[in-house]
Amino acid sequence: MTPEILLIEDNGQNRYLLSYLLTKHGYRVREAVDGPEGMRMAGERAPALILLDIQLPGMDGYEVARRLKKDDALRAVPVIAVTSYAMTGDRERCIEAGCDGYIEKPVDPATFVAQVEAILSNQCKPGPEA
Ligand code: MN
Repeated sequence: MTPEILLIEDNGQNRYLLSYLLTKHGYRVREAVDGPEGMRMAGERAPALILLDIQLPGMDGYEVARRLKKDDALRAVPVIAVTSYAMTGDRERCIEAGCDGYIEKPVDPATFVAQVEAILSNQCKPGPEA
């Protein structure tokens, strides 16, 4: 069964690009355009992975991550923040909110899927500081 990824991203161009790259690598992708829609879609059917924009209308990505990690049915789903926030501390803020990893925008189309897969495989191994 092809893993299904939920992509929560309000920017149409980014949605198109990420969806295109993931689909090309054999993943199925469902798309949500804001936080509330992402929460609703995650609740309908838990995806294998959630890719989460941080700057979102309605509910920002930090809040989405916090709610996902409070949900018994969804907390095991890995969440990767994909965000253009580049200031010091943003990565930590994403992780504090419950994200399992962080990829900076603009994404590199040549390496994006490999970055996602590296974060996913690291979750199954002890981290460097473990
Ligand atoms: Mn956005």
